[in-house]
Amino acid sequence: MSKTIAFIGLGIMGLPMAKNLVNAGFTVRGYNRSPEKVADLAAAGGQAAGTIAEAVDGADVIITMVPDSPDVEDVLTGDEGILAHAKAGAYWIDNSTIRPDVAKNLSAQAAQKGLKPLDAPVSGGEAGAINGALSIMVGGDKGDFDAVSDVFDAVGKTIVLVGPSGSGQTVKAANQLIVAGNIELLAEAVVFLEAYGVETTSALQVLGGGLAGSKVLDQKGQKMLDRSFDPGFRLELHHKDMGIVTAAAREAGVAIPLGSAVAQLVASTVQQGNGGLDHSGLLTVVEQLSGKNQD
Ligand code: NAP
Repeated sequence: MSKTIAFIGLGIMGLPMAKNLVNAGFTVRGYNRSPEKVADLAAAGGQAAGTIAEAVDGADVIITMVPDSPDVEDVLTGDEGILAHAKAGAYWIDNSTIRPDVAKNLSAQAAQKGLKPLDAPVSGGEAGAINGALSIMVGGDKGDFDAVSDVFDAVGKTIVLVGPSGSGQTVKAANQLIVAGNIELLAEAVVFLEAYGVETTSALQVLGGGLAGSKVLDQKGQKMLDRSFDPGFRLELHHKDMGIVTAAAREAGVAIPLGSAVAQLVASTVQQGNGGLDHSGLLTVVEQLSGKNQD
């Protein structure tokens, strides 16, 4: 029998993921804090829920996709949250990117209430969410992971159980470190190439075919050349993630000097009022370092 899924958080990532679950044949009940977005899911064949309680009532699987650790904590443990209303034995998949220690702690609370928790942050951006091609790094129990593989398959392509609760978030923190570093160096290369008046589209084309090539270059290069920074993945969310990885590295006694420098540049971009730009908008601060883009 097909599973009933409650989907909480229909933002840039959540809405297309929920639509892919509908298309895969699941019954999907969506809840969003601001109710307009629920209508989009209903128009695509999902069901609109006005409250978290209504969404999770009797659901076999509950998915959360909200911004940050306090938000997941709210929707899980709040008076009208998931734990107060979910049926025992339901799977709780958290696709949000949050602190690994918080994920571990919330998973323990959920398990104590009879839920089966999996921390399962994703990578692949809005395009990956729309195309059902996300990379999903999962922390939790192997039996629980296997039991919801049909759900993961509907939204992702590379789906890997990486360890016990919290491990998915640890791997995602490493992911965000690598992506931010890539974006930073790509931005430096763009500013460098433009300073020499090189034909930048051709330059990125040839760079993309060699060892300098990357998914970041493929997906973000042209956006930088066009100064087209509609999100995508907002810099304020990457700022959150750089906070997660720098704190977790410190906690583990691991030095990440380049990552820390990039974290400061991301923080500066956000402080200048550009947190709503796509993370390729890191280019704005890299330009300023060389006296460009001063207006
Ligand atoms: P988003 O567009 O801002 O969507 C977040 C959703 O969560 C919105 O629907 C928002 O509701 C809801 N929300 C926020 N705070 C809430 C709260 N306290 N209680 C209940 N609902 C709340 O963000 P997103 O880009 O989809 O990102 C979601 C998560 O995925 C984040 O952890 C992010 O780091 C991660 N992620 C994003 C991308 C990407 O490319 N965007 C890629 C990989 C991972 P409202 O509509 O009311 O604001």
